[in-house]
Amino acid sequence: MMMILNEFIKEAEKNQMIAAILKDHNVRVRVVHKSIKDYAYYVLGKGVLEISNKKGVIKDEKDFLITVLHETWHAVQATKMGWRNLRDEYEMEISKWQANNPKDMRGWMRNKREAISFESDAEKYAQKNWKQWYNTFKKQNLI
Ligand SMILES: [Zn+2]
Repeated sequence: MMMILNEFIKEAEKNQMIAAILKDHNVRVRVVHKSIKDYAYYVLGKGVLEISNKKGVIKDEKDFLITVLHETWHAVQATKMGWRNLRDEYEMEISKWQANNPKDMRGWMRNKREAISFESDAEKYAQKNWKQWYNTFKKQNLI
């Protein structure tokens, strides 16, 4: 059962869905497949969306879509603001959080979605929109 669960979407279908989502958001992103612990990671400044080819890092279709949409939203933020501004404001929010939590300087990493508005925005966006993409891809027999 676990094996089947981990292999719930084939590589080609995943790539097709990622491409459709990126195209819809009109972001210029290069997709790179590598072994990382999170399923997807947007590399600020490089315009690269890293996708994990490690097995077992995504639980299910919902998890897959939420992760891709969350990272895509970071690409949208970077496109809107310019990646340097996004980086600067992101760092400012980290500093603010650290000023309020001086005994736990790295704590923002555990509480990203509370500490950093760009993270809570990306997550809210993903949570709000994954179902719509799920239905679209279901109709296309991609999931
Ligand atoms: Zn994020």
